[in-house]
Amino acid sequence: MNRLRIDPATYDAWSALPVYFQEQSPFYVEGDVSTPTAFIELIGHGIVAEADVLLVETTSRPDDRYWLEPSAPNGVYSLVDLLALDFHHPLLYVGAYDETTDYVTLKRLWDEGYRVPSKRWSRETYEAHLARERQVEHRLSPTTVCAICTSDLSNRYGPLAVRLMECHMEAEAEMWVCPTCHKALHCK
Ligand SMILES: [Zn+2]
Ligand SMILES: [Zn+2]
Repeated sequence: MNRLRIDPATYDAWSALPVYFQEQSPFYVEGDVSTPTAFIELIGHGIVAEADVLLVETTSRPDDRYWLEPSAPNGVYSLVDLLALDFHHPLLYVGAYDETTDYVTLKRLWDEGYRVPSKRWSRETYEAHLARERQVEHRLSPTTVCAICTSDLSNRYGPLAVRLMECHMEAEAEMWVCPTCHKALHCK
């Protein structure tokens, strides 16, 4: 496991994390990791922080005013020091990574993946992809039918349809698609 998971229903992470980040004070999170740094995930939301783990203890639940439940059984707790906190990071969105995403990939997404639509891109490869597609932007599509959803844009947009079609380039192949399907392709 490369993530420490906090359930926002039992711990008020939305209030606690900004305070602990600003005060630079370590706090305990349930669980432990085997990776060089820990990513902190809010269950049901996504990753919002990266932290150094200072120590790991099996103990009764450490005191913290942000617990929302009165008590809990003994468990493993990591004392963490937040390195970075971002409630707007794209990794906050469920689906940007999954159980199989390894630490190296998460670290790359956290550090440089900002504003890339899915985990298959780094900022570099995504920008290169967009740059390549911009080079063919001036070309008129040979069709008004999307290769993915097969809708014919001319039904709704008439002669404008040909200008709305976008070229998606995958390896050496190119594909004419509607703007929505193009966006979806980038998110896969
Ligand atoms: Zn389409
Ligand atoms: Zn594309």
